[in-house]
Amino acid sequence: MSWIADHHKPLLISGPCSAETEDQVIETAVRLQKTGQIHVFRAGIWKPRTRPGAFEGVGKIGLQWLQKVKEITGLPVMVEVANSDHVEACLNAGIDILWIGARTTVNPFAVQEVADTLKGVDIPVFLKNPVSPDLELWIGGMERLLNAGLQKVGAIHRGFYFSGEKVYRNRPQWQIAIDFKTAMPNIPMINDPSHICGRRDMLGKIAQQAIDLDFNGLMIESHIQPDDAWSDAKQQVTPEVYANIIHQLIIRQPEHQVSNEAIEYLERLRKKIDLIDDEIINILTSRMEIVREIGHYKKDHNIVILQSQRWKEILEKFIKRGHDAQLSEEFISKIIKSIHDESIEQQEKIMSKRQSDQDI
Ligand code: PEP
Ligand code: MN
Repeated sequence: MSWIADHHKPLLISGPCSAETEDQVIETAVRLQKTGQIHVFRAGIWKPRTRPGAFEGVGKIGLQWLQKVKEITGLPVMVEVANSDHVEACLNAGIDILWIGARTTVNPFAVQEVADTLKGVDIPVFLKNPVSPDLELWIGGMERLLNAGLQKVGAIHRGFYFSGEKVYRNRPQWQIAIDFKTAMPNIPMINDPSHICGRRDMLGKIAQQAIDLDFNGLMIESHIQPDDAWSDAKQQVTPEVYANIIHQLIIRQPEHQVSNEAIEYLERLRKKIDLIDDEIINILTSRMEIVREIGHYKKDHNIVILQSQRWKEILEKFIKRGHDAQLSEEFISKIIKSIHDESIEQQEKIMSKRQSDQDI
């Protein structure tokens, strides 16, 4: 159960990355409302930009434009805040919902400042994940909001910065969002495909994945002339394209609403998975027993732990067999690398034990 009403699942949030002009804000909101696919209107008015000199938001004047959006469309409005001045300005302007951005979540001082300013205020606040893939920092930020007494809090998953080959602007790393949900099951989780994708063509795919993972809502940036947007132009879509993305989503039913027959069917398969999981543990235990035996032998005969050629062969074998079994190279290499790491760790422990320790 979450504080977001059931009929608002998925909660649909859209609007421009940045408020640019009064006309742009109002036209975006009116066109979004016409599609019928929106519950909350968003706009950034203070923009934390990576480099100085980029457009840093219109500032407080944007709050008046959002008030007009409320009057005209009746939609609740949502703004990003990063410090106490922002919070106070938003509260004075009757902004309905706040969010804390990814570059602010990385800074516990800033999150604490926002939380302290909100003590005693009953306003929904969403916390984006930090830019870096740091689950603890995200959870810690949420704890600061909860400790300030805020009841209506939510998390926004917007992906994580990484360097290297880029399909996504920010890698989804869904497992971190799932870990957050596991650690804080009562906190609703929204997905932000725009900042994950950084481009238009994949928004629908990421949005669907979020729905499939039972996320509580979506935040997708929209703009009346996306190509001319003053920030995040590549990832914004028109209100109509946004609505089409939402329209095409397949909304899944939560498990507690499905038939007994379906539940029994799933239970049966889950029992099989439990048995396989037990086997995995048993197999890993046996593997590590042999690894330790080898470790003792290598220690006694003064042989190095890492045999590079053998490791290369194991890795290649796994990738090849994984490929035959339709398992991605990324997945299978992660698994075997992790097993290999643990094996080295276990042998290291044996090697580094001094004779005197063993005698004790
Ligand atoms: C935004 O939502 O426009 C934004 C700045 O996002 P993030 O904090 O996720 O980068
Ligand atoms: Mn943006």
